Amino acid sequence: MANRRKMKCDCGTYLKEKETEIEHILTKAMVCPTCTFTTLTKDQAKEFRIRLEFHKAIDQERQVIKVGNSMGITLPEKLHEFGVNIGTKVKIEAIDQKSFRVEIR
Ligand SMILES: [Zn+2]
Repeated sequence: MANRRKMKCDCGTYLKEKETEIEHILTKAMVCPTCTFTTLTKDQAKEFRIRLEFHKAIDQERQVIKVGNSMGITLPEKLHEFGVNIGTKVKIEAIDQKSFRVEIR
């Protein structure tokens, strides 16, 4: 993250680093506060590619299964590549009545 030089938009305003949505993926990008022009630095593009791969690995429809007396959802094998293994701790948090998020600890 040594790349701290200021980038100027064609409209004359300096771009600001901001979490923004690109192809439905939330990622850091350089955004013009005036005209919303958006571009990625080399590091941001690298990060975006990793997030894109993560979405490809996790975004899918799954079925709730029975695990002993509990309910479970299996996770795709590809998550190993992102450091998720048997025993990995996760935090489950409700978002609304129909969704919850699972955060890898
Ligand atoms: Zn601009």
